[in-house]
This record gives sequence, C-alpha cells and structure tokens, in this order.
Amino acid sequence: MTTANDPLIQLDNVSKVFYTDQVETHALANVHLGIRSGEFVAIAGPSGCGKSTLLSVLGLLDSPSGGEYRLGGKPVHSLSAAERARIRNREIGFIFQAFNLIGDLTVFENVELPLTYRGMPAAERKRRVEEALERVQMSHRNGHFPAQLSGGQQQRVAVARAIAGSPAVLLADEPTGNLDSANATAVMDLLRDLHGQGSTLVMVTHDPRFAGYADRQVHLFDGQVVEDAATPAHAPHAGPHAVA
Ligand code: ADP
Ligand code: MG
Repeated sequence: MTTANDPLIQLDNVSKVFYTDQVETHALANVHLGIRSGEFVAIAGPSGCGKSTLLSVLGLLDSPSGGEYRLGGKPVHSLSAAERARIRNREIGFIFQAFNLIGDLTVFENVELPLTYRGMPAAERKRRVEEALERVQMSHRNGHFPAQLSGGQQQRVAVARAIAGSPAVLLADEPTGNLDSANATAVMDLLRDLHGQGSTLVMVTHDPRFAGYADRQVHLFDGQVVEDAATPAHAPHAGPHAVA
C-alpha cells in the first residue's frame, strides 16, 4: 500500500541491458534510487553513462531488464500496456533536449494535444492550455508555429505542454542542451520556479552549473550510481545571477 512516506519513485536493483549485434551494453546496473514528491533531482554523468536510459525507464518509455520500479507505490511491471500508456499521459511530463514540438501545430495546439489524447473536454483543455502558457510566459505566441520561435521559446512551450496535464513528475533530458547560455538560464529559472510551486522534477544535465539548481545530484558512471548527495547549500544555485 502507498503511504504518505513512500517515495513517489522507487528503483530497486534496476538494470537495463541492450543487445545489438554481438554486443551487450549494460546501460544501467544495480540502480537503487528513491525520489520523493516535491524533490528536484539532477542526474549527471559523462556521455553514454545511462542518463537517458534511466529517464526512459522512469518515464515508462522503456522497461528495466531486471530489478523493480515502483511508481506511487505500485510495481510498474505489473501494469498492462494500457495502464502504462495512461500513466505516461497523465502522471509524467516529458521535456526533451530537442523540444519535440510538432511543426504543423500551433503553440496552443502543441500544448493541447496530450490533453486531447486523454479525452478532456474542450473547455477544460482551453483553460489548462492558457494557464500553462501563462506560467511559461508564452501566451502572446499561442497562434505561432514552432519554427517562428527561438529555441528558448520553443523549450518554454515544451515545458507548458509537460505541465498542462498536472503530472506527478516532470522528466527533463538535457533541457538546456540545445540552448545558448541566456536561454538556458531562463529555462532553468523556469524549472526552478515550477519546483518552488511544488513540481517534482528529475533532470538530466551534464552542466554542473545547472545540476546545482537541483536539491540533490545523482551521478552515474557506467550505468551505476556512484554518488547521490544533496546539493551543498553554498553551491552556486542561489539565483539566476549567482553563476557566470
Ligand atoms: P547518456 O544519456 O548518459 O548519454 P544513454 O542512456 O543514452 O547514455 O546510453 C547508455 C548506454 O546504452 C550507451 O552505451 C548507449 O550506446 C547504450 N544504448 C542506449 N540506448 C540503446 C539502444 N536502444 N540500443 C542499444 N544500445 C543503447
Ligand atoms: Mg542522453
């Protein structure tokens, strides 16, 4: 049973092996990780260490090869495909490095689409889309197409899409990876504000400046958690102007 003290996310001894040609890649090994509702956790580590694989597992885009993943106290492996899809749509908000907006839909329609998939009535969709665009300060662009926006603006729209459905957790894979420094900082400030308003956030980054925005930093190496510690209080995450 779920109790208030249960972590939202609990991975026990999770592994993930990819088999390609004759090669066996252990993308995740012996991963133990608990994440509580309201936490902001950064996942860091070198290229190829398993960060995206971990996020895909957390987001039910991929299944572990071994171990157990419990989301909200429920073992994920016991869910049917339909239940997994439902949880992905309702409980998880994804933010990707490449924004992944749909080019021939407007800003409004991009944010609305996941709500349409879950069968939400039009009036509630409209209210939620408008509120989400307000929160990322993109309401003035709601009729624009993604190609008419800067990278930073596109990512803010992608954040609106992720939060519009009030998911239990936001998963962000290198959300600043395609952005220049000023836009990256603006997106990070936005994520920090969302966390301040109660969102649970798991963010992959290889940028130590941005890992410092999180409460806690989990370092992966060769698919294993090699460090898992609170961000020191003196780390330069105190504000947008605290970093160079
Ligand atoms: P990161 O995001 O930290 O750069 P990934 O999680 O993408 O790392 O990849 C971890 C390892 O797993 C890498 O060696 C990568 O090549 C391998 N890998 C990831 N996805 C697949 C896949 N679908 N098939 C085969 N190997 C994969
Ligand atoms: Mg990656």
